[in-house]
Amino acid sequence: MLGPDRFAPRLHDVPHEELEAAGIRGLIIDLDNTLLGFRETELAREHIDWVARAHERGFRIVMVSNNFSTRVNTLAAQLNVACFPNALKPLPFGFLRAKRCLKLRRREIAVVGDQLFTDVLGGKICGHYTILTEPIELKDFAITRFFRFFERLMLRGKR
Ligand SMILES: [Mg+2]
Repeated sequence: MLGPDRFAPRLHDVPHEELEAAGIRGLIIDLDNTLLGFRETELAREHIDWVARAHERGFRIVMVSNNFSTRVNTLAAQLNVACFPNALKPLPFGFLRAKRCLKLRRREIAVVGDQLFTDVLGGKICGHYTILTEPIELKDFAITRFFRFFERLMLRGKR
């Protein structure tokens, strides 16, 4: 139930062609530790390019983040994507709003994020394809560190 459909070190390691072949036409992307480390202030060139090329290929992309700071909006604007901050993942509200914005069917949407218990679990609850990335930085909030412990247990031997 909890396993993601795919692992990837970073979002930009996932080929657009592969997503197209899987019938994916839209993406819901996490921000913290998926696109940006906690101490980083600027998006990596690779991520900006990956999102730009995805747009060129016709992918629809939104950002869904549990973060509530204004930087979510700023970074989403840089990537030219709509964003839904303060999403309370794994609860479905943010994902549902994102799906409505993408105007796609459940299985046409891939959720990409670094956390099993927010991104992957929430994505699965909503019936989406899920991709678990490696966290960019390991220094997390205490609550995230707590969940990371269970993530390691769940994923032992699977990566
Ligand atoms: Mg994250």
